Amino acid sequence: MTFRCRFAPSPNGRLHLGHAYSALVNHDAAQRSAGRFLLRIEDIDATRSRPEFVAGIREDLQWLGVLPQEPPRHQSGHLPAYADALARLRKAGLLYPAFESRAEIAAEVRRRDLTAPWPRDPDGAPLYPFSRTSLPDSARQRRLAEGAPHVLRLHMDAALEAAGDGLSWQEAPGDALAPPEAVRADPAAWGDVILARRDVPGSYHLCVVIDDAQQEISHVIRGADLKPATAVHRLLQRLLGLPAPIYHHHGLILDADGRKLSKSAGSTSLAELRQSGATPGTVRARLGFA
Ligand code: GLU
Repeated sequence: MTFRCRFAPSPNGRLHLGHAYSALVNHDAAQRSAGRFLLRIEDIDATRSRPEFVAGIREDLQWLGVLPQEPPRHQSGHLPAYADALARLRKAGLLYPAFESRAEIAAEVRRRDLTAPWPRDPDGAPLYPFSRTSLPDSARQRRLAEGAPHVLRLHMDAALEAAGDGLSWQEAPGDALAPPEAVRADPAAWGDVILARRDVPGSYHLCVVIDDAQQEISHVIRGADLKPATAVHRLLQRLLGLPAPIYHHHGLILDADGRKLSKSAGSTSLAELRQSGATPGTVRARLGFA
C-alpha cells in the first residue's frame, strides 16, 4: 500500500498553531513512510471561504516547509461528484429533504428539553428533533415542487440497516504509523446528519469521504476533535462502497486556558507569529518537531 495522507483546512481564516501541528504530523508521517503528503482545500462554504485565505494556506505551508506533493484538491471544483453520491443515497431511500429553519429546530429542542434533557451529538449539539416521519412524504414532495429551501438528511435508522452489523474503523493509536486497532463506530450518536446543505450539494461528512477516496488517501491524520465523526464517515464509506483508510487522531494544541485553538476564539495565526519574529524552526520546536 502506498502511504498517502492529507491536510484539509477550510479557507475561512488564517492557519494557527493547531493547523501547523496537524500539517507537521501528516508531513512527518509521509516522510517516514516514503509516502505522499497532499493538500485539500475544504471550501464548500462559499459564504466563509475566501481566496486570500487559500493563498494564506499556501504561504504558511511553504514557510513551514511542508508543501503538498500533488496539486491541491479544491472541494468547490467537485460539486458534481458530491451530487452523484447524493443521488445514489437518495435512490437507495437513505436521504430525505428537511425544511425546518435553524430557529424552528432550536424552538423544538427547547420544547423537548422542558420534559427531559434532549440528547446531544458528540460535538454537544442537540440531535435533530424531527424525523423522516414528522412530515408525510406527500407534503415533502409538494414543498420540493414549490422550490422550498431544504437540506438533505441521512435517514440514520435506514442507513444503519443498509450498512449491516459490525461497523468499525482502523485507528492507529499514538502514532500514525503504529499498527491500527479496530474501533467500534457509533454513527447513531449523530442522528439524522445533514449530507447536503441548503446552498450546496454536499456537507462536511459527505465531501470528506468522497475526497479521501478520490485522493486515494491511505491514512487520515487529523485532530482528536474529529474522532467521533469518523463513525459517520465509516458508515458513508460502507453505503457508497468506498475504501476505508486507516485513521490516526492526534492530540490537540490547546491555549493557555486549555481550550482548543480556533479562528473564532481569535487564536494567534502563523502569519502573526511570523511577523513577531517566529521562524519555522521555533514553531517546529514549540510543536515537538526537530
Ligand atoms: N476541514 C476540516 C477542518 O478544518 C478538517 C477535515 C478533516 O481532516 O477530515 O477542521
